Amino acid sequence: MPDVFADLVGQDEAVIELRRAAAAAAATILRAGVADRAPASVAAGPAGGDESAFPADGAATAADPSTGMTHAWIFTGPPGSGRSVAARAFAAALQCVHGTGCGDCPGCRTTMGGTHADVRLVVPEGLSIGVGEMRALVLRAASTPSGGRWQLVIIEDADRLTEAAGNALLKAIEEPPPRTVFLLCAPSTHPDDISVTIRSRCRVVPLRQPPAAAVAEVLVRRDGIAPDVAQWAAAAAQGHVGRARRLARDPEARKRREAVLAVPRRLTGVGAAFDAASALIEAAEAEAAASVTEADTTERAALETALGAGGTGRGAAGAIRGAAGQLKELEKRQKSRATRAQRDALDRALVDLAGFYRDALTMALRAPVAPVHTDTAALAGAGAQKWDAEGSLRRLEAVLACRAAIEANVKPRIAVEAMMLALWKG
Ligand SMILES: [Zn+2]
Repeated sequence: MPDVFADLVGQDEAVIELRRAAAAAAATILRAGVADRAPASVAAGPAGGDESAFPADGAATAADPSTGMTHAWIFTGPPGSGRSVAARAFAAALQCVHGTGCGDCPGCRTTMGGTHADVRLVVPEGLSIGVGEMRALVLRAASTPSGGRWQLVIIEDADRLTEAAGNALLKAIEEPPPRTVFLLCAPSTHPDDISVTIRSRCRVVPLRQPPAAAVAEVLVRRDGIAPDVAQWAAAAAQGHVGRARRLARDPEARKRREAVLAVPRRLTGVGAAFDAASALIEAAEAEAAASVTEADTTERAALETALGAGGTGRGAAGAIRGAAGQLKELEKRQKSRATRAQRDALDRALVDLAGFYRDALTMALRAPVAPVHTDTAALAGAGAQKWDAEGSLRRLEAVLACRAAIEANVKPRIAVEAMMLALWKG
């Protein structure tokens, strides 16, 4: 049985640090257990008071901050580097009855399976995590862990916290309950992603973009994918483990990628540029719709059942009055999730496209690096001859500018049209 860190691809240094911290945390629990069994007059120590079980980073652990445990962590790294995988694995190691993340005990299994009572996972579905959600979470996280170990809160995409939600979280991190550990995931520690004050209270675990060979290896080992397919998918996904797995397994994902990579040769004029923009936007919309429709329907049905749709008994009228508000709230949440899914789908397409022009650029410069898209390498080579390094770079920059514009809330269609025109004109 591989342990809980086995799926953390190409992150040896981070794994060493997390194992060490888990061992330190297990030692804390052991000490607290001994103190609990001792007579009351002797029972002192970290778990006795109402302060966190560990000194804050920068305080008592200053001598060697990497050895001990602390109560707030931020996992940073590019998308697909495994931020949330790392947070979950670490959570499992903390709940592991052996304190190691064996992968086999009830603590490890329930944490990895998402059913551990003391592990709360926040996955933002919309564009941001609101203050209401955060306050409720912080409150619950302050309770005594039912399993006797830790209360863990994992916040994926902590960069999507609203300012108010960030403040609610900060308060909890500043005055941590004795057995609560916060695990945050964010692209970086840039102030745009995570507030400086939260950052200053957390230990940062930087993850790197895993090398293609490491990604391919895990696809073969864990998912049983053929080595040649795994190698191709790992390179095409540019170090994004989840994306590599989808490309290797899902023919629809492969088809969408092929359509995106066909864009450069379709740009033959102004009309074609606008057509290509429409096609890209509509493909992203379709992909997003496919991913959220099922969840939307299930949620709505569940809410309607909970609200007693069609009920005629006493209290039904009052329930209906409240129901309208709840349904509206659900629709708002679902719309926000759909927007997010569309942006994510479009962003994936833009990253693929950027990879193509990056290949053209490296070929024009005769740089000794492997292409991102091996299957369109010939096409990128032809582009390199036609455009030269400068023209390839301008096109790459047009794609990156489009991503930045969408990130800054420019309407996606407008940003993509501007990009297509720039790609055609060069
Ligand atoms: Zn275990």
